[in-house]
Amino acid sequence: MARKMKAAVARGFGRPLAIEDVPVPEPGPGQVLVKVAACGVCHSDVHAVDGDWPLKPKIPFIPGHEGVGVVAELGPGVGRVREGDPVCVPWLHHACGTCEYCTTGWEPLCPGQTNTGYNVDGGYAEYVLAEAAFVGLLPKDPDFVAMAPIACAGVTTYKGVKETEARPGEWLIVSGVGGLGHVAVQYARAMALRVGAIDVADEKLELARSLGAEFAVNAHAGDAVAEVIERTGGGAHGVLATAASVASFTQAVAMARPRGTVALCGLPAGDFPTPIFDVVLKRITIRGSIVGNRQDLSEAVAFAASGQVKATVHSAPLEDVNDVFARLKAGEIDGRMALIP
Ligand SMILES: [Zn+2]
Ligand SMILES: [Zn+2]
Repeated sequence: MARKMKAAVARGFGRPLAIEDVPVPEPGPGQVLVKVAACGVCHSDVHAVDGDWPLKPKIPFIPGHEGVGVVAELGPGVGRVREGDPVCVPWLHHACGTCEYCTTGWEPLCPGQTNTGYNVDGGYAEYVLAEAAFVGLLPKDPDFVAMAPIACAGVTTYKGVKETEARPGEWLIVSGVGGLGHVAVQYARAMALRVGAIDVADEKLELARSLGAEFAVNAHAGDAVAEVIERTGGGAHGVLATAASVASFTQAVAMARPRGTVALCGLPAGDFPTPIFDVVLKRITIRGSIVGNRQDLSEAVAFAASGQVKATVHSAPLEDVNDVFARLKAGEIDGRMALIP
């Protein structure tokens, strides 16, 4: 008889997840079975379950791409990890390894990629299958709940900061101090950047300051752009836009210094107008940033393991997933939630 495990299963878009007993998957060649200790809840999981994006996940599916736990079983031919090793199972489940993106370190752009918790079952379960070559290696005896958000929020913001090309001593503005932004502030500080933060909630501004931002501006109070330009002596070298707000993207471009780069890693619904005159005359780069490659993940984990980056995480039992989604949609979650199966 097949072994069973508890999982939160999406059986239709926009419907609550169902807690069910499903078969424990078996690792094939190159794969590992990971016993999930915790799985972070990313806003993308809500979009996946609601079927919000043009490319839909398979139905039914198990969401979750911030799963962390230990390797419980090895498929044939796995040499990279051993049973008992702590790992994380990120969004990038698998990439082809041979296309122009894969061979140049841009595997998150691989057209042949598969994604954990989207078109491959994810970590909202007692076990999750992963490709041994794509898991993130965690330090020995990790605090699993603390490490869970690094698998997506961590690597996404770390890569986003890198994508702004801001150098040590230069100014980075983190726009939006939510689940992504509060981690971004810490990566930027760990990378010796000078940090300013923007949000619309005063407690988020306070959080940003406590994490090392030299100043924090309320986007709704006064002229936030003018204040950033003044505080940074002419505009930010890099701006990382993490807020799910179109208005904040427009603002992000306006506060960039000439030759600056604006990296977008939030995904608000809708488009924003590009001020072409400013972008051309100030030679501003506007760039998307999507997760990170395996090396980025490993560096993002290393910063967290060293204690320089700590996500604010609260945990809840897997059974509470629908309630957690509701609170996330209502903007009631401070930091990140991790589900415990
Ligand atoms: Zn995510
Ligand atoms: Zn590829």
